[in-house]
Formats: sequence, C-alpha cells, structure tokens
Amino acid sequence: MSTLNIPSAFPEPVIVPRAEHGISRAQISPSALKVLYRLKDAGFAAYLVGGGVRDLLLGREPKDFDIATDAHPEEVRALFRNCRLIGRRFRLAHVRFGSEIIEVATFRAPHDGAEDEGAGELSEDGRILRDNVYGTFEQDAWRRDFTVNSLYYNIRDFSVVDHTGAMADIAEGQMRLIGDPQVRYREDPVRMLRAVRFAAKLGFRIEEASEAPIFELADLLFDIAPARLFDEVLKLLHGGVALETFEQLRRYGLFRSLFPLTERALEREDQGFPMTFIARALENTDRRITEGKPVTPAFLFAVLLWEPVRLRTAELVAEGMGEIPALQVAAAEVTSEQLRHVAIPKRFSLPMREIWTLQPRFAQRRGKRVARLLAHPRFRAAYDFMCLRAAVGDGDPELCAWWTQLQETDASGQEELLQQQTAAEPARKRRRRPRKRARKPGPDA
Ligand code: ATP
Ligand code: MG
Repeated sequence: MSTLNIPSAFPEPVIVPRAEHGISRAQISPSALKVLYRLKDAGFAAYLVGGGVRDLLLGREPKDFDIATDAHPEEVRALFRNCRLIGRRFRLAHVRFGSEIIEVATFRAPHDGAEDEGAGELSEDGRILRDNVYGTFEQDAWRRDFTVNSLYYNIRDFSVVDHTGAMADIAEGQMRLIGDPQVRYREDPVRMLRAVRFAAKLGFRIEEASEAPIFELADLLFDIAPARLFDEVLKLLHGGVALETFEQLRRYGLFRSLFPLTERALEREDQGFPMTFIARALENTDRRITEGKPVTPAFLFAVLLWEPVRLRTAELVAEGMGEIPALQVAAAEVTSEQLRHVAIPKRFSLPMREIWTLQPRFAQRRGKRVARLLAHPRFRAAYDFMCLRAAVGDGDPELCAWWTQLQETDASGQEELLQQQTAAEPARKRRRRPRKRARKPGPDA
C-alpha cells in the first residue's frame, strides 16, 4: 500500500543532454568533481543532485554540492580516506577536503509502509522517524521534496536527468511538492518551511496544490524537534532574503510555531514599532549577507524576541518589581519558553540575554559605569540593538547619539563627554527618584 501519490510504475525520466543545458564542470567545485569521478571509476552511479543542480540551472552559485550514488555508505567510505559516516535519522557519507565537505547519500526508497524492520520508520501520524531504506535511482528522485530539488547531473555523460517534470517547474518559476502534498507535509512538516525558504530565495511561487495545505497543516511544526528547527530557522534567516521570508512565514501561519510569543505580541501591535524593529533588523541582515559580512544569530534572536521580553517586563513592573530585576526575569522566562520550540544553543542564547539585560545600562552614563559598559564583550551588539530600538521609537535617540559620539571621539573628547554627563546627571536623578533610599549612598555609589 503506497502512502505516496506517485506513479506505481515510474515514467521514463527525461534526459537533457549536455548541449541543451547550461551546467558546465567549471562551475562545480573541484572536490565534488573528484568524488563524482572516483565513484564513477569504481563502477557506481554518481550524480550531483538537489540544490546544486537547481542553482546552477538558475545561474546562481550553489551553497553546497550534494552527491547521490548507488554505492552504500560503507562502500563510499572504502573509496575515500577522508570520509566519515554520519547521521542516524539519515545516514550519509561526508567526504572532507580541507574545510569543504561533500555529502554523499545513497539512493533512498520512499516510505511505503513495507520497509525493512528498523531501517525506515514512520510515526503513527505518518512522520518519518528514520530514513535509511535504500532504493533505486527512480525511487530516490520521487522521495525528494520539491520537483526543482530532484534534478540529477550525471557525471558519465554530463546530462541532466529529470524524473518529475522539474525542468518545466524551473521554467515556470514554481515550487511543486512531489506526490500528494498533504501526505508529504505530514511525513515531514519541515517541508513547509523549505517551501517558503526556497520560494523567497529563488523568487519562485509555491504552486497552488502545494500551497493550499500549508495554512491548515502549519501547526504540525509544533511537533518537530527544537534542535532541528534551530537549524531551519538559521537557514530561513541567513538566506539573504530574511525579511521576505519572515513576512511569508507569518502569512502562512508558520511563524507562530517557531516564535509563538513573538507572533502573539505582533498580533497585538501589528504595524507598530515592534514590526518596524524586526523589519529593520532583517533588512540589515540581508544587506550584510549580500555584502558577505558576518551576521550573529544572537542579535537576530534578541530582536525577534524583544517585544515579548518588553511586554513581560512591563507586566512585572506593573506588579511592583523594579525595572532591572523585571527585565532579568522576563529575559529568563521568554528564553525558556522559546527553547521549547527552537533550541537556541547556549553560545547564542547567553549573548542574546546579555544584549537585553545591558539595555538599561546605556542610560547610566557616569564615570566608571561607562568604561565598564564599553569594555563589555557584548557592548557592540547591545549598542547596535539600542540604536535600532531608538530609531523605531523604542528608546531615546539622544542616547544612541551620545554613545556613538563617545566611540568616535578620542580620549580627551571622551573625557569631556563624560564630564558634561556627570554634571547633568545628579540633578536629573533627584528629580526623577524622590524616594528616600535614592539619596542614601548605595554600595557602588
Ligand atoms: P540549499 O543547500 O541551497 O539550502 P538544497 O536543495 O540543496 O538547498 P538541502 O537541505 O541541502 O537542500 O538538501 C539536499 C536535497 O535533499 C534537496 O535538494 C532535496 O532533494 C533533498 N531533501 C532535503 N530535505 C528534504 C526533506 N525534508 N524531504 C525530502 N527531501 C529532502
Ligand atoms: Mg544543499
């Protein structure tokens, strides 16, 4: 019994000969070519597949080069000294050349409910738990997600092999899921995110039948392992089209299962400054990625979760908590709720929280505090964050200007700025905090 609505007898693939497509070996990484030739010379089938072929046909630079073969992982390992087998859910060979890794996957069969015990596994609701049933070339093509991701470049004759009508979809500029969209999304709900990601990146639309079920199935993402969703979120945000991707994720109801607190906050405040704040940050990210500059996930996560943190802080303050402890508590609460959905590793979640908790310290501009904040390892990110807030009306533009000037001026200029501030500050302080305790010198006054 087949769960996939794919032909039981596969139609003959269309072979596009070398003369009729634009892919040349010069565009393929030399390491990938080495792997392809070594497999071929050992008598195995060897194809470049997936995003690499798709991107080359579209005249784009591929992010990586994946290879498909009929050699089993152990056979691949035997051919390469620099090879490791990885993955439980999806067993693969990694062939390493310096910092470049070429992924070599053995042809897989689709799940049809009659697979080898243990090698492939579906959950009760049809989700793929393990995907290690090896199959034929045709089966490998039909079990892939989108037609445009199912093209193969054959190293034997440099032709492109099209099993699923992919060339037509490339020409049309559309993402079409292979098989029955309902079944394929249920099998792996992450395909919904991939649909949006590729559509935004390639400027494609999602073909109607592949698009319709997304609205209804979006919440299936709540069941996906948070660690896997973290990887996906990075790909969604680092593709150079984060703003467009974000807007589409929201439109399909997919954003909610990644950042539920943010979605709730945005629904309250739509079009207001939280939206502008996120949009500006995503635009910056896209610009930096286009220019080849590094971006830090901690900053983006800090931006995406700031509105929930801000709202929760305000609630706690209204309940009588001091502003600084309230921010600490809100930061901790929002982070731990977020981790239930997207597993942000500590190396990003700790700086993210620091970016938030440093925010009130920009208002303290006297003597040692300034020097201490400037020297903080997270100063630059927290400063950028503060200025971005100020630019959209969440905070004081004058503060951003002051800290900007402070960094741009020399030592004597800094001294002058600090003195002006120290002279101005005590008067303001007394006016704002008429409480008795405020006058008593505290431990660090
Ligand atoms: P890019 O590397 O540019 O993000 P890609 O298409 O190469 O895009 P990968 O995640 O590298 O995407 O996956 C390689 C190929 O593996 C895909 O092109 C697709 O054929 C197949 N694939 C990946 N993820 C899935 C999935 N969840 N379901 C079915 N097939 C998949
Ligand atoms: Mg890839």
